[in-house]
Amino acid sequence: MSPTESVEAFRSRARSWLAAAMPRLDHDAPQRLPGDDDELWLRARELQQKLYAGGFAGICFPKEYGGLGLSRAHQEAFTEESADYEMPFLLNTPTFSICCATLLDLGTEEQKRTHIAAAIRGEQALVQFLSEPSGGSDLAGLLTRAERDGDGWVINGAKTWSTSAYAADYGLCLARTDPEQPKHQGLTMFLVPTKAPGLTVNRIRMVDGSTEFCEEFFDNVRVDASAVVGRVGEGWTVASRQLFHERNAVGGGSPYVSGHGIPPTRPVGNPFTIARLTGRADDPAVRTLLGDVIARSIVDSRLVARVSAGIAEGHLPPPASSLLRLFHAECAQNREDIALRIAGAGAAVGEASGPGHVGVAGLAYLSRQTASLGGGSTEISRNIISERLLGMPREYAPDRGIPFNRIKRGTR
Ligand SMILES: Cc1cc2nc3c(=O)[nH]c(=O)nc-3n(C[C@H](O)[C@H](O)[C@H](O)COP(=O)(O)OP(=O)(O)OC[C@H]3O[C@@H](n4cnc5c(N)ncnc54)[C@H](O)[C@@H]3O)c2cc1C
Repeated sequence: MSPTESVEAFRSRARSWLAAAMPRLDHDAPQRLPGDDDELWLRARELQQKLYAGGFAGICFPKEYGGLGLSRAHQEAFTEESADYEMPFLLNTPTFSICCATLLDLGTEEQKRTHIAAAIRGEQALVQFLSEPSGGSDLAGLLTRAERDGDGWVINGAKTWSTSAYAADYGLCLARTDPEQPKHQGLTMFLVPTKAPGLTVNRIRMVDGSTEFCEEFFDNVRVDASAVVGRVGEGWTVASRQLFHERNAVGGGSPYVSGHGIPPTRPVGNPFTIARLTGRADDPAVRTLLGDVIARSIVDSRLVARVSAGIAEGHLPPPASSLLRLFHAECAQNREDIALRIAGAGAAVGEASGPGHVGVAGLAYLSRQTASLGGGSTEISRNIISERLLGMPREYAPDRGIPFNRIKRGTR
């Protein structure tokens, strides 16, 4: 067995490599406005290929699936070192931290060797097909169905709010395979190619102008038996693991990421830049607000470290990732609210040439609610914390234990 490189040796090797191979971020570049993100996706794949060629891709994924098999501490060192460089941030979530992490836990050997390895090489992006137009937080009530057809399956239904599906190669799609079972049973997870015949992917334009979300229509989409992730009828087990990875990722606790440095696809208000640009950085009231942002971000990172270590060492159960998801959403919304307060009326008018940093605070505010819905809503996170961490009584569910096809829907 080869000795593992120490974190400090890895950090210093990463520092030299990043300086020689990766493009530096231009912090003074104007904020990107939301819209067509295709170019950012091509760039993300290109950057991932560079990471792979340089030997810094898939830091925490096992070697047999194309990763480096190193620890969370190695990944954190790399993330710190890469803060000033352009990184394939768009691949972090959901490709690596949610979909590949779920395949690593519950996929077949072939799925791991094929898809995790291809994603690490920058050749594949994976997304989630969970939410449905009629479902929302009640994920187990989904209506998309898959029926056996010879050795394979035929999928029919509709999905929505799929982040970046237009740029992806595969989607993890939860479908109902046995409507005679209660709603949490009789489900199966499939790995579906986004270009499969019968699958239509449309982009959704949001109020802030971004187009990262998609909706999909499945019209007799055929997949092989090898597309099943986990066991037939046990899709809820896979979905629960996937949602754990999602809450962990959205909360900032996933080890399956590269660096962070690339502009997001949606506008984000930066209260520090705005305070500087509006000449309010010395105003004591503004400094108090900025102090609040800094204090919460320190608490956030300490919480991530503590909860992640607790889950890894077994002191805390996986549902503890909901603590991260909850606090992270509160921090994100607090930051957007403070950016808007500091920007004042400038958030509505922006600069003469466009919104600029100050106007972006207004655009970002339009989507502030996404932080408390993405990755499962804040209310559901609170339910999970109360029921699974604190042991409080379960929420009443009139459909518990009833076969799915006998549950009344759309009636008052
Ligand atoms: C940024 C972002 C990214 C996303 N990416 C994806 C993706 O890649 N793939 C995908 O499949 N989906 C994705 N989604 C969809 C997301 O998973 C759903 O938005 C989420 O599950 C909540 O559903 P909903 O928005 O329909 O809210 P609803 O279910 O309509 O809920 C509305 C409100 O009612 C509350 N509520 C509902 N039930 C209860 C209850 N039992 N107790 C208390 N309160 C309750 C909710 O918490 C919420 O506040 C994304 C969403 C966002 C915002």
